[in-house]
Amino acid sequence: MLFVLQLACIGEKMTINKEISTKVNEKDKTSSNGKQTSVLPIKNYINGKWVLSSGTETLDVINPADKTLLAKCPLSTSKDIDNAVKAAKEAFKIWREVPVIERVQILFKLKTLLEKNSEELAKICTQENGKILLESRGDVRRGIQMVETACGMPTLLMGKSLEDIASGIDCQAIRRPLGVFCAITPFNFPPMVPFWFWPFAIASGNTFILKPSERVPLTQIRVFELIEEAGMPKGVMNLVNGSKEVVNALCTHPDIKGVSFVGSTPVAKHVYQTATSHGKRVQALGGAKNFMVVLPDANIELAVRTIVESCTGCAGQRCLAGSVVLCVGDTYKRLEEEITKKAKSLKVGNGLVVDSNVGPLISEDARKRVSGLIQSATAEGAKILLDGREGTNQLEGFFLKPTVISEVKKDMKIAKEEIFGPVICLANVKTFDDAIDWLNSSNYANTSSLFTSSGAAARKFSYEVDPSMIGINIGVPAPMAFFSFGGTKDSFFGDIKAHGQASADFYTDTKVTISRWVKDSSIW
Ligand code: NAD
Repeated sequence: MLFVLQLACIGEKMTINKEISTKVNEKDKTSSNGKQTSVLPIKNYINGKWVLSSGTETLDVINPADKTLLAKCPLSTSKDIDNAVKAAKEAFKIWREVPVIERVQILFKLKTLLEKNSEELAKICTQENGKILLESRGDVRRGIQMVETACGMPTLLMGKSLEDIASGIDCQAIRRPLGVFCAITPFNFPPMVPFWFWPFAIASGNTFILKPSERVPLTQIRVFELIEEAGMPKGVMNLVNGSKEVVNALCTHPDIKGVSFVGSTPVAKHVYQTATSHGKRVQALGGAKNFMVVLPDANIELAVRTIVESCTGCAGQRCLAGSVVLCVGDTYKRLEEEITKKAKSLKVGNGLVVDSNVGPLISEDARKRVSGLIQSATAEGAKILLDGREGTNQLEGFFLKPTVISEVKKDMKIAKEEIFGPVICLANVKTFDDAIDWLNSSNYANTSSLFTSSGAAARKFSYEVDPSMIGINIGVPAPMAFFSFGGTKDSFFGDIKAHGQASADFYTDTKVTISRWVKDSSIW
């Protein structure tokens, strides 16, 4: 069975035909907008087999750059989750006894396969998410780094021991896997975010179910083909596509031990509350509102370049995207001018076209929501220096150009809500302390950045601000695979963060054995 996925490349007049094999139902050949035919529902991967969902409904997967229909994502049901959990539970019995050094051999193989196929994965990501190819390549690379780090699980899993905790008594604490874990992931990093979780979980000896975003399911179809090719035993890794029903089934299923979630704050809260009340471990990473503070002693050229990249990269659809720039003292006028000039120079367009700097938003709803927030800022008295809503009519996709808004005040809607679009808000504050007070008053606390040439200011900032991921002269301070990732307040619900050393804590239980062996002189 072959499914031809067309990557129409506006501007280059190029069509890449990529065959994604075996994962579709040939019976359904409908299309929603008439732009493309032969678009079929994708399959789930359960117990080592590509199977059709038991659900009858599907959602269209749309290329946000040109609105072509790419695929249909099935809305799987709790029955599909039951099947996946059954398979994962069965596989756990064998997988947990496989020595960790052998478990990671599959990850080493997968790393090689991912590298070999990274350009293809990046193109699928750009096609379904819209981000420019350069950003998709980074997305894939970050994912591969997770696999590399999880290959070091033999070291990360080591326990502790101490002899003579009392006379003749020794104590040993080992980490042991718990069973079936799952992850529920968002649309904005289709390759990377799932890798934050499952490589660490399965290298620890657990088995896994992934539920990717129904808006971008195609990248993970290809990743699972590679997982299969790497020789993953059946049932260890399962893929179930769908939406709310599947999420709720995962959060309430009695045989699931833990849930990793990444997405918006309301859903993160819902997942946290539902899954914890069903006795599960949960790490739920939510939305964000990220502030960037510029002090008068900052290198302004570096600050401007970094701020614009942070706020507009991935079309602003990043949980670490800068949103409100707090300009301290007399930096304000210069930043207004130079940030607007830089933002104006960016070219929006299809991410597969070489000279595009900013791709589209994920959907028409997203474009409307962000446009509404820009409108609210004007209504509340802010000044628009660059209006990205203008000049997008001739573009086919869900584009919104970079937007710069000045004279933003703390109580404005645009200063409080997550925007998730290429919008830069500028505000003038009198002192460094005012900037810190403002950013600490936010309900969110994912990341924040400071631009300065003072070490003392940098230390004060890191010490006093609430967010957990801090950038000093850095715009997107994303911890790499070997560190842990996650915020506080409404940006994170749970206790143990994603990837790095924290994974060993999240995906294992610690078992302590205290032993007394009475000396027996008759033996030796
Ligand atoms: P989303 O909350 O709409 O969806 C995330 C997942 O939840 C998807 O798999 C979706 O199927 C599921 N879901 C959606 N609505 C649901 C409901 N009512 N009940 C049960 N499940 C539901 O998020 P999104 O739009 O895909 O992603 C963007 C959001 O994710 C932003 O808020 C962004 O800040 C956040 N995000 C956070 C981080 C982080 O590290 N904190 C990283 C990436 C994205």
